[in-house]
Amino acid sequence: MRVRFFGGLSQIGRNCAAIEAEGKLLLIDCGQMFSDDASPGVETILPDFGFLRDRAADIVGCIATHGHEDHIGALPFLLRDVSFPVYSTRFTLALVRHKLAEANLLDRSQLVEVHDGEKVKIGPFDCEFLPVTHSTPSGVISVIRTSQGVIVHSGDLKIDPTPVDHRTTDLDRLAEIASTEGVRLLLADSTNADTPGRTASETHIGDVLSGVFAANSERRIIVASFASHIHRLQQVADLAIAQGRTVVPVGLSMVRNFKLARDLGLMHIPDQHIADADEAERLDPAKVCVVCTGSQGEYRSALWKMVQGENRFVAITVDDTVVFSSHPIPGNESAVARLRNGLARLGAEVVHSGQLDVHTSGHAKQDELADFHRVVRPEFFVPVHGEHAHLAAHAKLARGMGMAVDNVVVCLDGQSVELSDAGIARGPETSGAMIYVDGRVGGVDEAVLQERRVLGENGFVAVFVVIDDDERSLVDGPTVISRGWAIDDDLDNLEDAIADAVRASILDVLKSREPTRKNIERVMRRSAGSTVADLTRRRPMIIPTVTFAR
Ligand SMILES: [Zn+2]
Ligand SMILES: [Zn+2]
Repeated sequence: MRVRFFGGLSQIGRNCAAIEAEGKLLLIDCGQMFSDDASPGVETILPDFGFLRDRAADIVGCIATHGHEDHIGALPFLLRDVSFPVYSTRFTLALVRHKLAEANLLDRSQLVEVHDGEKVKIGPFDCEFLPVTHSTPSGVISVIRTSQGVIVHSGDLKIDPTPVDHRTTDLDRLAEIASTEGVRLLLADSTNADTPGRTASETHIGDVLSGVFAANSERRIIVASFASHIHRLQQVADLAIAQGRTVVPVGLSMVRNFKLARDLGLMHIPDQHIADADEAERLDPAKVCVVCTGSQGEYRSALWKMVQGENRFVAITVDDTVVFSSHPIPGNESAVARLRNGLARLGAEVVHSGQLDVHTSGHAKQDELADFHRVVRPEFFVPVHGEHAHLAAHAKLARGMGMAVDNVVVCLDGQSVELSDAGIARGPETSGAMIYVDGRVGGVDEAVLQERRVLGENGFVAVFVVIDDDERSLVDGPTVISRGWAIDDDLDNLEDAIADAVRASILDVLKSREPTRKNIERVMRRSAGSTVADLTRRRPMIIPTVTFAR
């Protein structure tokens, strides 16, 4: 019995693991990771699916623990090549269905709905699904029975005693399994494992938002949130309706998720209290609550467009109060700050999580994790879902609670553990590589990204020459073209200086050495590069090109 980790154990994102027994593979999640400034131009980052493609015939299914992109976002990419059923709760499957329909892949997968507490046999694995609280509804803890005992996978875990839908994390059933069958291996969420205390309940956020609504009863209220945070949206809608406001979802995914969640009975808003953006124009602004995407400062999101004056229906005014019911994800801070500044410039009031508890995490902090470990009492533990620091903190917490040092194994992407009668051991490694999607899957690699970073930070200088091979003479050039490197006023002089230096170095080569393309380009790069560095102290990419005239 083996657990292989393909992603999610070195960074937050692209969660994907496989439980392997009796020659069969059961996937847990198949997520993507959003790219940041370190990977310019990249749309999304995937786990390396090479191993899973090779073992396609052995995959019995995938459990989707919940509907966040870091758990289901890569399904369309894997299902292109491999066909298997996806098991999850109704809401998550609705999101998966939408995703697969968009990619024209619905025929590649059977979507199997599971219910809280239900037991399902998937290949050789006896699975049971238990409710877990998180920042999107209907998440599950997976209990997987194998020949080597019970594995518990926490999913994205929070132990919220007062969730909006009253669907609490089923610790009672976990305690029962722990005492009757015993848990051999626990895999648990580490996102907040280095943060002390407990994560505030979702309903506490509702209380705080209630105060914000009371203080802004005469103003239009615009709330930016994650579109998948159905319970947050419900709380906002309830407060808005209580003030006689009409709820107006704005932004593609926000409109879609409002409809999806209402259709599935996960969100309750009477028809007369919700309107499309075009209808809202006719309403008294003080009787409107806009709920929109853009809480992470995303480029071209609904809120971004409102600030730029590009949203067709909503323009920001001095009578608006904008609530960021979210916390910037690491990497998004500056984009969020830009948006807040844009709002301030337009005279709007801004409320954010730095001032008031208008957001809470969907992940358990240390005290909750300790409770979870006390309930599950696993023999072995592998922390999952985290950056290195989170995984290390979670391992430390487990050892601090009395687990033997060797029973806690920290794995990284591409690594695996094996369970046998002898205990736990590290297993064979597969690839944990980042697969970048830029138009095409794997279309760029680390080397291309390095070139993009150089181009992005320093620009380029291209130098062209035409050489007569027989006469060993410079027929045309050097012609210098540069971009993103120097200001217009300096450019002519700088390019002339480069041309002079390159000309001199080429004449040298033509006289003294074998004038091969390689030799000529090397001296061009060296002379252009050193001239550029001497004149500007900058290091743009140098691109020499030689043409031979015959
Ligand atoms: Zn999540
Ligand atoms: Zn997650």
